[in-house]
Amino acid sequence: MEIVFFNTLGREYQRFEPLEDVVKIYCCGPTVYHFAHLGNFRSYIFEDILVRFLRKSGFSVKHVMNITDVGHLVSDADEGEDKMVLAAKREKKDVLEIARFYSDVFFDDARKLNILKPDIVCRATEHIPQMISLIKKLEARGFTYFAGGNVYFDTSKFPDYSKLRAGQDKSSVARVEEDPNKKNQEDFVLWFTKSKYRDHILLWDSPWGLGYPGWHIECSAMAMTHLGETLDIHCGGVDHIPIHHTNEIAQSECATGKLFSRFWLHNEFVLFNNDKMSKSKGSIVTVSDIDSKGFDPLDYRYLCLLVHYRTQLNFTEETLKSARTARQNLVLTLAKFLAENRLSVSQIESTSSFKYLSTVAEDLNTPKLLGQIWTDIENLTVDTVSSILEIDEVLGLNLKSKIILCSTLDTQAQEIAAQREISRKNKRFEESDKLRDVLTEKGYLVFDTNQGQIVLNRNI
Ligand code: AMP
Ligand code: ZN
Repeated sequence: MEIVFFNTLGREYQRFEPLEDVVKIYCCGPTVYHFAHLGNFRSYIFEDILVRFLRKSGFSVKHVMNITDVGHLVSDADEGEDKMVLAAKREKKDVLEIARFYSDVFFDDARKLNILKPDIVCRATEHIPQMISLIKKLEARGFTYFAGGNVYFDTSKFPDYSKLRAGQDKSSVARVEEDPNKKNQEDFVLWFTKSKYRDHILLWDSPWGLGYPGWHIECSAMAMTHLGETLDIHCGGVDHIPIHHTNEIAQSECATGKLFSRFWLHNEFVLFNNDKMSKSKGSIVTVSDIDSKGFDPLDYRYLCLLVHYRTQLNFTEETLKSARTARQNLVLTLAKFLAENRLSVSQIESTSSFKYLSTVAEDLNTPKLLGQIWTDIENLTVDTVSSILEIDEVLGLNLKSKIILCSTLDTQAQEIAAQREISRKNKRFEESDKLRDVLTEKGYLVFDTNQGQIVLNRNI
Protein backbone atom coordinates (compact mmCIF):
# COMPACT_ATOMS: atom_id res chain seq x y z
CA MET A 1 0.00 0.00 0.00
CA GLU A 2 1.40 3.38 -0.98
CA ILE A 3 1.25 6.02 1.74
CA VAL A 4 1.28 9.63 0.63
CA PHE A 5 1.47 12.70 2.85
CA PHE A 6 1.51 16.38 1.97
CA ASN A 7 4.92 17.53 3.17
CA THR A 8 5.05 21.23 4.12
CA LEU A 9 8.78 20.98 3.44
CA GLY A 10 8.67 21.21 -0.35
CA ARG A 11 4.90 21.82 -0.38
CA GLU A 12 4.06 18.65 -2.27
CA TYR A 13 2.64 15.16 -1.85
CA GLN A 14 5.38 12.69 -1.12
CA ARG A 15 5.46 8.95 -0.72
CA PHE A 16 6.11 8.04 2.90
CA GLU A 17 8.40 5.30 4.13
CA PRO A 18 10.17 5.34 7.47
CA LEU A 19 13.94 5.59 7.56
CA GLU A 20 14.27 2.70 10.01
CA ASP A 21 11.97 0.07 11.55
CA VAL A 22 10.34 2.49 13.92
CA VAL A 23 8.51 5.61 12.70
CA LYS A 24 9.74 8.52 14.79
CA ILE A 25 7.11 11.18 15.32
CA TYR A 26 7.40 14.40 17.30
CA CYS A 27 4.41 16.61 18.02
CA CYS A 28 4.51 20.02 19.65
CA GLY A 29 2.40 19.69 22.76
CA PRO A 30 0.45 22.15 24.85
CA THR A 31 1.73 25.11 26.78
CA VAL A 32 0.06 24.30 30.07
CA TYR A 33 -0.96 27.78 31.20
CA HIS A 34 -4.65 27.48 30.40
CA PHE A 35 -7.29 25.01 29.23
CA ALA A 36 -6.60 23.64 25.76
CA HIS A 37 -9.45 24.57 23.41
CA LEU A 38 -11.09 22.63 20.61
CA GLY A 39 -8.75 24.29 18.08
CA ASN A 40 -5.73 22.91 19.92
CA PHE A 41 -7.37 19.52 20.12
CA ARG A 42 -7.80 19.40 16.37
CA SER A 43 -4.00 19.10 16.23
CA TYR A 44 -3.90 16.29 18.73
CA ILE A 45 -6.79 14.43 17.06
CA PHE A 46 -5.10 14.65 13.66
CA GLU A 47 -1.82 13.42 15.16
CA ASP A 48 -3.66 10.60 16.90
CA ILE A 49 -5.21 9.50 13.58
CA LEU A 50 -1.76 9.60 11.99
CA VAL A 51 -0.22 7.41 14.70
CA ARG A 52 -3.14 4.97 14.77
CA PHE A 53 -3.07 4.73 10.97
CA LEU A 54 0.67 3.98 10.82
CA ARG A 55 0.30 1.32 13.52
CA LYS A 56 -2.67 -0.24 11.72
CA SER A 57 -0.55 -0.29 8.55
CA GLY A 58 1.96 -2.47 10.35
CA PHE A 59 4.60 0.02 11.46
CA SER A 60 6.02 0.42 14.93
CA VAL A 61 5.70 4.03 15.98
CA LYS A 62 7.47 6.05 18.64
CA HIS A 63 5.29 9.06 19.33
CA VAL A 64 6.79 11.84 21.42
CA MET A 65 4.97 14.93 22.62
CA ASN A 66 6.30 17.71 24.81
CA ILE A 67 4.69 19.74 27.52
CA THR A 68 5.83 23.36 27.49
CA ASP A 69 6.05 24.48 31.10
CA VAL A 70 8.60 27.28 30.67
CA GLY A 71 9.87 29.67 28.01
CA HIS A 72 6.81 30.18 25.79
CA LEU A 73 6.41 33.94 25.71
CA VAL A 74 3.17 35.72 24.93
CA SER A 75 4.33 36.22 21.35
CA ASP A 76 6.13 33.46 19.42
CA ALA A 77 8.68 36.07 18.31
CA ASP A 78 10.40 36.44 21.70
CA GLU A 79 8.12 39.17 22.98
CA GLY A 80 6.19 39.61 26.18
CA GLU A 81 6.10 37.70 29.38
CA ASP A 82 6.32 33.92 29.86
CA LYS A 83 2.79 32.49 29.56
CA MET A 84 3.36 30.23 32.57
CA VAL A 85 4.53 33.08 34.78
CA LEU A 86 1.55 35.21 33.76
CA ALA A 87 -0.81 32.37 34.65
CA ALA A 88 0.85 31.89 38.04
CA LYS A 89 0.31 35.57 38.81
CA ARG A 90 -3.26 35.51 37.53
CA GLU A 91 -4.18 32.51 39.65
CA LYS A 92 -1.88 33.32 42.57
CA LYS A 93 -0.30 29.89 42.40
CA ASP A 94 3.10 28.38 41.98
CA VAL A 95 4.21 27.88 38.33
CA LEU A 96 4.62 24.15 38.86
CA GLU A 97 1.16 23.92 40.40
CA ILE A 98 -0.23 25.66 37.31
CA ALA A 99 1.64 23.27 35.03
CA ARG A 100 0.43 20.22 36.94
CA PHE A 101 -3.17 21.39 37.04
CA TYR A 102 -3.47 22.26 33.35
CA SER A 103 -1.57 19.22 32.13
CA ASP A 104 -3.88 16.96 34.17
CA VAL A 105 -6.91 18.64 32.61
CA PHE A 106 -5.29 18.33 29.18
CA PHE A 107 -4.81 14.56 29.49
CA ASP A 108 -8.31 14.16 30.92
CA ASP A 109 -9.80 15.99 27.92
CA ALA A 110 -7.56 14.06 25.52
CA ARG A 111 -8.81 10.78 27.01
CA LYS A 112 -12.43 11.90 26.53
CA LEU A 113 -11.62 12.54 22.87
CA ASN A 114 -10.13 9.02 22.69
CA ILE A 115 -6.68 10.38 21.90
CA LEU A 116 -4.06 7.76 22.78
CA LYS A 117 -1.35 8.93 25.14
CA PRO A 118 1.95 9.43 23.29
CA ASP A 119 4.68 6.88 24.04
CA ILE A 120 6.74 9.63 25.62
CA VAL A 121 5.45 12.85 27.16
CA CYS A 122 8.38 15.09 28.01
CA ARG A 123 8.42 18.28 30.03
CA ALA A 124 10.60 21.24 29.09
CA THR A 125 11.63 21.84 32.72
CA GLU A 126 13.02 18.30 32.87
CA HIS A 127 15.30 18.76 29.83
CA ILE A 128 17.25 21.91 30.68
CA PRO A 129 20.71 20.19 30.57
CA GLN A 130 19.95 18.86 27.06
CA MET A 131 18.91 22.37 25.93
CA ILE A 132 22.08 23.88 27.37
CA SER A 133 24.27 21.32 25.64
CA LEU A 134 22.50 21.96 22.31
CA ILE A 135 23.09 25.71 22.66
CA LYS A 136 26.76 25.01 23.50
CA LYS A 137 27.04 22.95 20.33
CA LEU A 138 25.57 25.80 18.28
CA GLU A 139 27.93 28.23 20.02
CA ALA A 140 30.95 26.04 19.22
CA ARG A 141 29.88 25.90 15.58
CA GLY A 142 29.58 29.68 15.40
CA PHE A 143 25.82 30.02 15.01
CA THR A 144 25.16 32.15 18.09
CA TYR A 145 25.99 35.56 19.51
CA PHE A 146 25.60 37.08 22.94
CA ALA A 147 23.90 40.46 23.16
CA GLY A 148 22.10 42.36 25.89
CA GLY A 149 22.41 39.38 28.22
CA ASN A 150 20.75 36.86 25.90
CA VAL A 151 22.11 34.18 23.59
CA TYR A 152 20.74 34.59 20.07
CA PHE A 153 20.69 32.31 17.05
CA ASP A 154 22.19 34.07 14.04
CA THR A 155 19.80 33.28 11.18
CA SER A 156 22.13 34.85 8.59
CA LYS A 157 24.46 31.87 9.10
CA PHE A 158 21.85 29.40 7.87
CA PRO A 159 21.07 29.99 4.17
CA ASP A 160 18.15 27.52 4.27
CA TYR A 161 16.48 29.42 7.09
CA SER A 162 13.20 30.01 5.21
CA LYS A 163 12.90 26.63 3.54
CA LEU A 164 9.88 25.43 5.54
CA ARG A 165 7.88 28.59 5.11
CA ALA A 166 8.67 29.09 1.44
CA GLY A 167 5.43 29.92 -0.33
CA GLN A 168 3.63 30.56 2.97
CA ASP A 169 1.67 33.65 3.79
CA LYS A 170 4.01 35.64 6.03
CA SER A 171 1.30 37.90 7.40
CA SER A 172 1.08 35.70 10.48
CA VAL A 173 4.64 36.63 11.44
CA ALA A 174 3.56 39.46 13.71
CA ARG A 175 6.28 41.39 15.48
CA VAL A 176 5.23 43.47 18.39
CA GLU A 177 8.47 45.20 19.27
CA GLU A 178 11.86 45.41 17.63
CA ASP A 179 14.74 44.07 19.69
CA PRO A 180 17.81 46.35 19.35
CA ASN A 181 20.12 43.50 20.41
CA LYS A 182 19.29 41.40 17.38
CA LYS A 183 21.52 41.55 14.31
CA ASN A 184 18.55 40.51 12.16
CA GLN A 185 15.01 40.78 13.38
CA GLU A 186 14.45 37.11 12.53
CA ASP A 187 17.15 36.01 14.97
CA PHE A 188 15.72 34.44 18.07
CA VAL A 189 16.69 33.84 21.67
CA LEU A 190 18.17 30.49 22.67
CA TRP A 191 18.80 31.46 26.29
CA PHE A 192 17.47 34.42 28.25
CA THR A 193 19.46 35.80 31.15
CA LYS A 194 18.10 39.32 31.08
CA SER A 195 14.53 40.15 30.58
CA LYS A 196 12.54 43.21 31.36
CA TYR A 197 10.30 40.77 33.20
CA ARG A 198 12.67 40.49 36.12
CA ASP A 199 10.36 38.37 38.18
CA HIS A 200 10.71 35.29 35.99
CA ILE A 201 10.38 32.55 38.57
CA LEU A 202 11.93 29.57 36.82
CA LEU A 203 15.68 30.07 36.48
CA TRP A 204 18.57 27.70 35.86
CA ASP A 205 22.29 28.06 35.99
CA SER A 206 24.03 28.03 32.60
CA PRO A 207 27.38 28.97 30.99
CA TRP A 208 25.73 32.31 30.10
CA GLY A 209 24.36 33.01 33.56
CA LEU A 210 21.20 32.35 35.48
CA GLY A 211 18.30 32.24 33.05
CA TYR A 212 15.81 30.18 31.09
CA PRO A 213 15.56 28.67 27.61
CA GLY A 214 13.78 30.02 24.57
CA TRP A 215 10.68 28.10 23.50
CA HIS A 216 12.08 26.88 20.17
CA ILE A 217 15.22 25.24 21.57
CA GLU A 218 13.02 23.22 23.90
CA CYS A 219 11.41 21.26 21.09
CA SER A 220 14.68 20.64 19.23
CA ALA A 221 16.38 19.37 22.39
CA MET A 222 13.49 17.15 23.47
CA ALA A 223 12.89 15.73 19.99
CA MET A 224 16.56 14.82 19.56
CA THR A 225 16.85 13.44 23.10
CA HIS A 226 14.04 10.97 22.56
CA LEU A 227 14.14 10.32 18.82
CA GLY A 228 17.68 11.00 17.59
CA GLU A 229 18.96 13.59 15.15
CA THR A 230 16.58 12.87 12.26
CA LEU A 231 12.84 12.40 12.75
CA ASP A 232 10.44 10.82 10.28
CA ILE A 233 7.53 13.16 10.94
CA HIS A 234 7.13 16.41 12.84
CA CYS A 235 3.59 17.73 13.37
CA GLY A 236 1.80 20.81 14.60
CA GLY A 237 -0.67 23.48 13.59
CA VAL A 238 -0.04 25.75 10.58
CA ASP A 239 0.65 28.70 12.89
CA HIS A 240 3.92 27.02 13.83
CA ILE A 241 5.30 27.03 10.28
CA PRO A 242 6.66 30.61 10.01
CA ILE A 243 8.45 30.90 13.35
CA HIS A 244 8.49 27.96 15.73
CA HIS A 245 9.14 25.14 13.26
CA THR A 246 11.34 27.32 11.07
CA ASN A 247 13.48 28.00 14.14
CA GLU A 248 13.46 24.37 15.25
CA ILE A 249 14.88 23.40 11.85
CA ALA A 250 17.55 26.11 11.97
CA GLN A 251 18.84 25.14 15.43
CA SER A 252 18.69 21.40 14.89
CA GLU A 253 20.24 21.31 11.44
CA CYS A 254 23.00 23.75 12.35
CA ALA A 255 23.85 21.71 15.45
CA THR A 256 23.95 18.31 13.72
CA GLY A 257 24.55 19.07 10.06
CA LYS A 258 21.73 16.62 9.32
CA LEU A 259 18.15 16.91 8.10
CA PHE A 260 16.00 17.43 11.22
CA SER A 261 12.70 15.97 10.03
CA ARG A 262 11.92 14.25 6.73
CA PHE A 263 8.20 15.09 6.81
CA TRP A 264 6.39 18.11 8.24
CA LEU A 265 2.63 17.70 8.60
CA HIS A 266 0.52 20.67 9.64
CA ASN A 267 -3.16 20.91 10.44
CA GLU A 268 -5.27 23.93 9.50
CA PHE A 269 -7.14 26.04 12.01
CA VAL A 270 -10.46 25.64 13.66
CA LEU A 271 -12.37 28.86 13.10
CA PHE A 272 -14.85 30.23 15.58
CA ASN A 273 -16.94 33.32 14.80
CA ASN A 274 -14.97 33.60 11.52
CA ASP A 275 -11.59 33.88 13.19
CA LYS A 276 -8.94 31.43 14.41
CA MET A 277 -10.12 29.92 17.67
CA SER A 278 -7.66 31.37 20.12
CA LYS A 279 -7.62 32.61 23.66
CA SER A 280 -6.07 35.89 22.61
CA LYS A 281 -8.86 36.43 20.03
CA GLY A 282 -11.43 36.26 22.79
CA SER A 283 -13.64 33.25 22.56
CA ILE A 284 -12.70 29.64 22.89
CA VAL A 285 -14.68 26.45 23.39
CA THR A 286 -13.29 23.66 25.56
CA VAL A 287 -14.06 19.97 25.92
CA SER A 288 -15.86 20.64 29.20
CA ASP A 289 -17.98 23.33 27.49
CA ILE A 290 -19.35 20.84 24.99
CA ASP A 291 -19.56 18.16 27.68
CA SER A 292 -21.76 20.38 29.81
CA LYS A 293 -24.03 21.08 26.82
CA GLY A 294 -24.75 17.35 26.61
CA PHE A 295 -22.45 16.49 23.71
CA ASP A 296 -20.20 13.48 23.75
CA PRO A 297 -16.60 14.67 23.12
CA LEU A 298 -16.56 11.99 20.40
CA ASP A 299 -19.03 14.20 18.48
CA TYR A 300 -16.18 16.69 18.12
CA ARG A 301 -13.82 13.91 17.08
CA TYR A 302 -16.34 12.90 14.39
CA LEU A 303 -16.54 16.53 13.25
CA CYS A 304 -12.75 16.64 12.88
CA LEU A 305 -12.86 13.46 10.80
CA LEU A 306 -15.46 15.03 8.50
CA VAL A 307 -13.10 17.82 7.45
CA HIS A 308 -9.68 17.06 5.96
CA TYR A 309 -6.94 18.11 8.40
CA ARG A 310 -5.48 20.60 5.88
CA THR A 311 -8.81 22.39 5.41
CA GLN A 312 -10.09 25.00 7.84
CA LEU A 313 -12.89 23.81 10.08
CA ASN A 314 -15.62 26.28 10.91
CA PHE A 315 -16.86 25.39 14.38
CA THR A 316 -20.47 26.14 15.31
CA GLU A 317 -22.90 24.40 17.62
CA GLU A 318 -24.93 23.49 14.53
CA THR A 319 -22.02 21.68 12.86
CA LEU A 320 -21.34 19.87 16.12
CA LYS A 321 -25.01 18.83 16.30
CA SER A 322 -24.87 17.43 12.74
CA ALA A 323 -21.73 15.52 13.64
CA ARG A 324 -23.47 14.11 16.69
CA THR A 325 -26.47 12.98 14.63
CA ALA A 326 -24.22 11.31 12.07
CA ARG A 327 -22.10 9.58 14.70
CA GLN A 328 -25.16 8.32 16.57
CA ASN A 329 -26.81 7.13 13.35
CA LEU A 330 -23.69 5.21 12.45
CA VAL A 331 -23.75 3.40 15.79
CA LEU A 332 -27.53 2.83 15.63
CA THR A 333 -27.36 1.43 12.09
CA LEU A 334 -24.61 -1.00 13.02
CA ALA A 335 -26.34 -2.01 16.26
CA LYS A 336 -29.65 -2.57 14.47
CA PHE A 337 -28.02 -4.71 11.80
CA LEU A 338 -26.34 -6.86 14.43
CA ALA A 339 -29.59 -7.21 16.40
CA GLU A 340 -31.50 -8.22 13.25
CA ASN A 341 -28.89 -10.84 12.55
CA ARG A 342 -28.74 -11.96 16.17
CA LEU A 343 -25.06 -11.19 16.34
CA SER A 344 -23.03 -9.50 19.03
CA VAL A 345 -19.95 -7.35 18.48
CA SER A 346 -17.70 -10.07 19.89
CA GLN A 347 -18.91 -12.52 17.23
CA ILE A 348 -17.69 -10.30 14.40
CA GLU A 349 -14.38 -11.62 13.22
CA SER A 350 -11.80 -9.15 12.07
CA THR A 351 -11.07 -8.93 8.38
CA SER A 352 -8.48 -6.94 6.54
CA SER A 353 -9.97 -3.50 5.88
CA PHE A 354 -7.58 -2.76 3.05
CA LYS A 355 -10.02 -0.64 1.06
CA TYR A 356 -10.63 1.70 3.97
CA LEU A 357 -7.01 1.78 5.07
CA SER A 358 -5.83 2.75 1.60
CA THR A 359 -8.16 5.76 1.70
CA VAL A 360 -6.51 6.94 4.90
CA ALA A 361 -3.17 6.37 3.15
CA GLU A 362 -4.11 9.24 0.81
CA ASP A 363 -2.87 12.00 3.11
CA LEU A 364 -5.25 10.91 5.91
CA ASN A 365 -8.38 11.38 3.84
CA THR A 366 -10.91 10.72 6.61
CA PRO A 367 -13.77 12.67 4.92
CA LYS A 368 -13.53 10.36 1.91
CA LEU A 369 -13.39 7.36 4.21
CA LEU A 370 -16.57 8.41 6.04
CA GLY A 371 -18.24 8.87 2.63
CA GLN A 372 -17.29 5.29 1.68
CA ILE A 373 -18.58 3.97 4.98
CA TRP A 374 -21.93 5.74 4.55
CA THR A 375 -22.28 4.34 1.02
CA ASP A 376 -21.42 0.83 2.16
CA ILE A 377 -23.85 1.04 5.03
CA GLU A 378 -26.78 1.15 2.62
CA ASN A 379 -26.24 -2.54 1.87
CA LEU A 380 -24.72 -3.77 5.07
CA THR A 381 -23.15 -7.21 5.24
CA VAL A 382 -21.32 -8.91 8.08
CA ASP A 383 -18.08 -8.35 6.18
CA THR A 384 -18.73 -4.61 5.92
CA VAL A 385 -19.51 -4.39 9.61
CA SER A 386 -16.27 -6.18 10.27
CA SER A 387 -14.32 -3.74 8.05
CA ILE A 388 -15.93 -0.73 9.71
CA LEU A 389 -15.09 -2.00 13.19
CA GLU A 390 -11.57 -2.70 12.02
CA ILE A 391 -10.99 0.78 10.57
CA ASP A 392 -12.40 2.26 13.77
CA GLU A 393 -9.06 1.38 15.34
CA VAL A 394 -7.83 4.30 13.20
CA LEU A 395 -10.88 6.56 13.47
CA GLY A 396 -11.14 6.07 17.22
CA LEU A 397 -14.91 6.52 17.46
CA ASN A 398 -15.21 3.69 20.01
CA LEU A 399 -17.80 2.02 17.80
CA LYS A 400 -17.61 -1.36 19.52
CA SER A 401 -18.31 -0.06 22.99
CA LYS A 402 -20.93 2.37 21.68
CA ILE A 403 -22.73 -0.50 19.89
CA ILE A 404 -22.73 -2.49 23.14
CA LEU A 405 -24.05 0.56 24.99
CA CYS A 406 -26.70 1.04 22.32
CA SER A 407 -27.86 -2.55 22.70
CA THR A 408 -27.96 -2.46 26.49
CA LEU A 409 -31.28 -1.81 28.21
CA ASP A 410 -31.63 -0.91 31.88
CA THR A 411 -33.71 -3.30 34.03
CA GLN A 412 -36.86 -1.23 33.77
CA ALA A 413 -36.58 -0.96 29.99
CA GLN A 414 -36.01 -4.72 29.77
CA GLU A 415 -39.22 -5.33 31.69
CA ILE A 416 -41.22 -2.93 29.54
CA ALA A 417 -39.79 -4.46 26.36
CA ALA A 418 -40.73 -7.95 27.59
CA GLN A 419 -44.30 -6.80 28.37
CA ARG A 420 -44.53 -5.22 24.94
CA GLU A 421 -43.41 -8.43 23.30
CA ILE A 422 -46.28 -10.23 25.05
CA SER A 423 -48.87 -7.61 24.06
CA ARG A 424 -47.72 -7.80 20.45
CA LYS A 425 -48.00 -11.59 20.46
CA ASN A 426 -51.50 -11.29 21.85
CA LYS A 427 -52.36 -8.58 19.34
CA ARG A 428 -53.08 -6.01 22.06
CA PHE A 429 -51.79 -3.25 19.80
CA GLU A 430 -53.09 -0.31 21.77
CA GLU A 431 -51.20 -1.50 24.85
CA SER A 432 -48.11 -2.23 22.77
CA ASP A 433 -48.21 1.30 21.30
CA LYS A 434 -48.38 2.77 24.79
CA LEU A 435 -45.42 0.72 25.91
CA ARG A 436 -43.49 1.87 22.87
CA ASP A 437 -44.21 5.47 23.93
CA VAL A 438 -42.88 4.73 27.41
CA LEU A 439 -39.67 3.32 25.93
CA THR A 440 -39.32 6.28 23.56
CA GLU A 441 -39.80 8.64 26.47
CA LYS A 442 -36.99 6.86 28.29
CA GLY A 443 -34.61 7.44 25.35
CA TYR A 444 -34.99 4.16 23.46
CA LEU A 445 -35.78 3.49 19.82
CA VAL A 446 -38.19 0.65 19.08
CA PHE A 447 -38.25 -1.19 15.75
CA ASP A 448 -40.73 -3.92 14.87
CA THR A 449 -39.04 -6.24 12.41
CA ASN A 450 -39.80 -9.65 10.93
CA GLN A 451 -37.44 -11.08 13.51
CA GLY A 452 -39.36 -9.40 16.33
CA GLN A 453 -38.92 -6.24 18.34
CA ILE A 454 -35.55 -4.48 18.51
CA VAL A 455 -35.01 -1.89 21.22
CA LEU A 456 -31.94 0.34 21.09
CA ASN A 457 -30.61 2.98 23.45
CA ARG A 458 -30.46 6.38 21.75
CA ASN A 459 -28.20 7.99 24.36
CA ILE A 460 -24.90 7.02 22.87
P1 AMP B 1 -0.25 26.01 21.77
O1 AMP B 1 -0.64 25.40 23.11
O2 AMP B 1 -0.75 27.38 21.59
O3 AMP B 1 1.20 25.86 21.47
O4 AMP B 1 -1.05 25.16 20.67
C1 AMP B 1 -1.08 23.77 20.64
C2 AMP B 1 -1.37 23.27 19.24
O5 AMP B 1 -2.66 23.70 18.79
C3 AMP B 1 -0.38 23.77 18.20
O6 AMP B 1 -0.03 22.72 17.32
C4 AMP B 1 -1.13 24.88 17.49
O7 AMP B 1 -0.67 25.05 16.18
C5 AMP B 1 -2.55 24.32 17.50
N1 AMP B 1 -3.60 25.32 17.39
C6 AMP B 1 -3.73 26.48 18.09
N2 AMP B 1 -4.87 27.13 17.75
C7 AMP B 1 -5.49 26.37 16.82
C8 AMP B 1 -6.72 26.48 16.08
N3 AMP B 1 -7.57 27.50 16.26
N4 AMP B 1 -7.03 25.50 15.22
C9 AMP B 1 -6.22 24.44 15.04
N5 AMP B 1 -5.05 24.27 15.70
C10 AMP B 1 -4.68 25.21 16.59
ZN1 ZN C 1 7.47 22.71 19.29
